Amino acid sequence: MSKYADKIVEIVLNSREHLTAEQVFLEMKKTYPKVVLATIYNNLNMLVSEGKLRRISIEGSPDRYDRTTRHDHMICMKCGALSDITIQDMTQMIERQTGGKILSYDLKINYICSECKNKLKENKHE
Ligand SMILES: [Zn+2]
Ligand SMILES: [Zn+2]
Repeated sequence: MSKYADKIVEIVLNSREHLTAEQVFLEMKKTYPKVVLATIYNNLNMLVSEGKLRRISIEGSPDRYDRTTRHDHMICMKCGALSDITIQDMTQMIERQTGGKILSYDLKINYICSECKNKLKENKHE
């Protein structure tokens, strides 16, 4: 089990693509051709609960997996593209307002990416 887990962490950390379980599975198959998708899911769940990986849930699309280093995400509402953004850590500000310790927060910024913006412009000209 743990040889898989180590490799999964390596795959996710080496990628900046915010991989889905399916994509991790395809990468894993290159090293472990016999691995099954259920094993990938089990390991991903374990790694997330151990705090070694971070899961990003986006409504209407499969969960993605990411490094745990503090950063936030911008999501294009047109194509679903996910990009990293580093915003000042708001933990203290939130804790001041809620009056207690928080475990974490998950900031998602909805926007229209430049590619989709350009497409919208093109369509208007037609
Ligand atoms: Zn887009
Ligand atoms: Zn990210």
